[in-house]
Amino acid sequence: MSTQNPVFIPGPTNIPDEIRKACDIPTLDHRSPAFARIFKPAIAGVRRVLGMDQGEVIVIPSTGTGGWEAAVTNTLSPGDTVLTARFGMFSHRWIDLCQRHGLNVQVIETEWGMGAPVAEIAAALSADTAHSIKAVLVTHNETATGVRSDIAGVRAGLDAAAHPAMLFVDGVSSIGSMPFDMAGWGVDIAVAGSQKGFMLPAGLAILGVSPKALNAMENATLPRTFFDFRDMLKSYATGGYPYTPPVGLIAGLAKAIELLEEEGLEHVYARHHRLAEATRRAVGAWGMTPCAATPELYSDTVTAVVVPQGCNGTDLVQLAASKYGVAFGVGLGEVAGKVFRIGHLGMLSDVMLLSGLATAEMCMADLDWNVQLGSGVAAAQEYLRNSADVALAQAA
Ligand SMILES: *Cc1c(COP(=O)(O)O)cnc(C)c1O
Repeated sequence: MSTQNPVFIPGPTNIPDEIRKACDIPTLDHRSPAFARIFKPAIAGVRRVLGMDQGEVIVIPSTGTGGWEAAVTNTLSPGDTVLTARFGMFSHRWIDLCQRHGLNVQVIETEWGMGAPVAEIAAALSADTAHSIKAVLVTHNETATGVRSDIAGVRAGLDAAAHPAMLFVDGVSSIGSMPFDMAGWGVDIAVAGSQKGFMLPAGLAILGVSPKALNAMENATLPRTFFDFRDMLKSYATGGYPYTPPVGLIAGLAKAIELLEEEGLEHVYARHHRLAEATRRAVGAWGMTPCAATPELYSDTVTAVVVPQGCNGTDLVQLAASKYGVAFGVGLGEVAGKVFRIGHLGMLSDVMLLSGLATAEMCMADLDWNVQLGSGVAAAQEYLRNSADVALAQAA
């Protein structure tokens, strides 16, 4: 695999040189003011990216999955009921995690390619007049299928039922790349990871926690030690950690936020939308469709491409890696072989994306799929050249 080629997996994402350099710092005492000077701007920046107006940001040496575990163990007790839907590998893994923690998971089975079933969630909440549901768990951007769910719609269901359940959102593959409005959507815990929209190496779970979730923490009895928010918050007050933090990654996080805000979050989101739309134009020109069932479900960070009957998406991913040194994502779980995934998030430009689409096409031709070389690239080129923001490109 050439280290010069960009990756087109939906995380980990390409790392800008400025972030790699920012992570490379000499050892420093994490109990000294020098660490607080790195840590505090990083935390303040995360608040802005998550769209928080109150509550706390927690950054844990872990990954997104650890972030889910922290969310659950800090706020719930064994036997508590949580409501969620299964519509892809990541929503599935969240269910598994809750079950292993002894929670009573009320699952709404949903077709892969669909998003969180807002109406069914609302109905389940209205039916729960005893308020036994303690939290609703939603995967904002299902990375396995390239589906974005309507978090505002889930919040509306909670409000309509006047239900006091907390709302936990997995934003691991959306936060920093697609609009996220923790305050506006009334999200109680938002979970992100360092290696997707934040363009860092893996190694940090990044959470926004509302006052309501912080309150729940006081009575929650699921066991936690390393992930205990109470210990973290006590140490944060003095600018530090209850254990040795990954200082380099946190320095990188501060730099990542600087880069996102230099570009402007609105422009970052617009760039992701444009690159996603160019990808979808290419997919259409190949005669294929996204796995996401309808346009309002389309993710702006990853497209799961449904391959034609008789083709296997995993063959394309393996060939791209072995012959061209380029990484795409395989289909996971129920859609294994039926799709391949193009990640288009993080540090990515028009030129980088076109190289990925061209590579995918070469693989299709190599595999004797019925696709005209250049067809998808031409559709993406046509869209990109007509939607380019010239002023922005020149400034960058
Ligand atoms: C990547 C991802 C995760 C898992 O994150 P890890 O950092 O690999 O633990 C969870 N949810 C979604 C939606 C993801 O894309």
